[in-house]
Amino acid sequence: MSQCPFVVVGASLAGLRAVEAARREGFCGPIVLVGAEDHLPYDRPPLSKAFLDSAEEPPVPHYKTREELLQLNVDLRLGRPAIGLDLGTREVLLDGGSRVPYGRLIVATGARARELPGKQLDGVHTLRTVEDAARIRRALNAGCRTVVVGGGFIGAEVASAARKRGLPVTILEAAAPPLVRALGEQMGATCAALHALYGTDLRCGVAVASIEGDGRVERVILSDGSSLVADLVVVGIGASPVTDWLEGTGLTLDDGVVCDETLRASEGVYAAGDVARWRNPLFGKSMRLEHWTAASEQGAAAARNALAPDRAAPYSTVPYFWSDWYDNKLQMVGVTGAEEVAVVGSFDERRWIALYRCGERLVGALALNLPGKIMKYRAMIGGGTAWGDALAFARGTP
Ligand code: FAD
Ligand code: NAP
Repeated sequence: MSQCPFVVVGASLAGLRAVEAARREGFCGPIVLVGAEDHLPYDRPPLSKAFLDSAEEPPVPHYKTREELLQLNVDLRLGRPAIGLDLGTREVLLDGGSRVPYGRLIVATGARARELPGKQLDGVHTLRTVEDAARIRRALNAGCRTVVVGGGFIGAEVASAARKRGLPVTILEAAAPPLVRALGEQMGATCAALHALYGTDLRCGVAVASIEGDGRVERVILSDGSSLVADLVVVGIGASPVTDWLEGTGLTLDDGVVCDETLRASEGVYAAGDVARWRNPLFGKSMRLEHWTAASEQGAAAARNALAPDRAAPYSTVPYFWSDWYDNKLQMVGVTGAEEVAVVGSFDERRWIALYRCGERLVGALALNLPGKIMKYRAMIGGGTAWGDALAFARGTP
């Protein structure tokens, strides 16, 4: 096994899992972990959930302590982004001018929050980092009036945090309904209906014309000319893969780093996590996932394949994510784009499962408040379970 440095760019979930897998696979050469943030790798899902609910300043949700990372014998280069890559000399260029040679490279630079155009006033935030979450938490603690732009996951989870404190919150969503790509039209609308139950004002099919204030946000002007008073605006309009540092390097970039089925982007270069676009053999299509589970799995898979390219295995997965809306747990496995969606359970009790059909196959399942069940459907989708069998299973399972 090569003893040339194993370099990982992006010190978050996918990057950390790559480092751990490299050591597990027996790689005992040097490992360098490069991260743009000053922090040790930390967990993002709590940032829009428990972290926002806390009255006191919560600790950064690190995955591992510095000591635990040093036990893996990792050379940590934090607070210093990579700004370029030379595929010819096999070097990563860091901000400040130093060069890090690699034998194998894992690109795990994730995604960044999309922003509204124009200069942002104080009180207007996106939510991607622990600093963003701390600013939003402080505004909520001060009892702010919140407007969230975007009715996706950030929108729903920030609204949940505001309503837990009894604060007024409006979500503005350009589409009608929200989350069509993630959940499909029917279930996007079903989930959106939860907002009204908890006192969130969801307005669909509206655009933001401008955000106004004297240095600090005071109001949001909508395209129909109406306005909303706001002390806090959270922009949750999606994320973009962080590939700017790779432009012109020779890697193929197309809404992510384009990889083959083994997550290989080029000779010795692999990608993992939110930044990676690859062909998922299980569904026969190109995907880029922005989910915790995929980032974790891909980090490990990319490292294994990078270290043993002659035995590289295709990475296939049934996508999985969860989201916490008020006191409800949403969990989705598989894909949407279905020809039929069948819902089994009770809307009144807020306990149901929606099954998504393509041809004669089960391709997706979305559950509300059925945490023990969803992984059975993940296995069914992975195993190619027929639609009729999946539906019979759902109907026969209390
Ligand atoms: P990231 O976590 O984006 O990390 C990439 C890292 O690379 C960052 O630290 C970044 O600073 C660094 N980086 C970027 N550019 C450079 C560079 N040039 N040089 C060096 N370093 C660089 N998923 C779920 O399934 N369920 C959830 O409930 C859920 N909740 C979420 C809540 C929030 C607030 C957010 C933001 C995401 C949530 N996600 C959730 C998504 C999940 O967190 C991501 O899919 C996961 O973090 C992706 O991991 P990653 O390592 O690929 O990328
Ligand atoms: P998202 O889930 O993609 O949702 C963004 C929503 O905003 C979409 O419904 C989108 O509609 C809408 N939108 C886009 N532009 C808009 C505009 N100008 N005005 C109003 N609405 C607009 O993205 P997100 O909620 O911002 O989350 C960002 C990232 O964090 C994603 O990677 C997400 O997966 C991750 N995250 C995940 C979770 C979770 O899984 N529980 C929780 C928080 C964050 P269209 O789809 O029609 O563009």
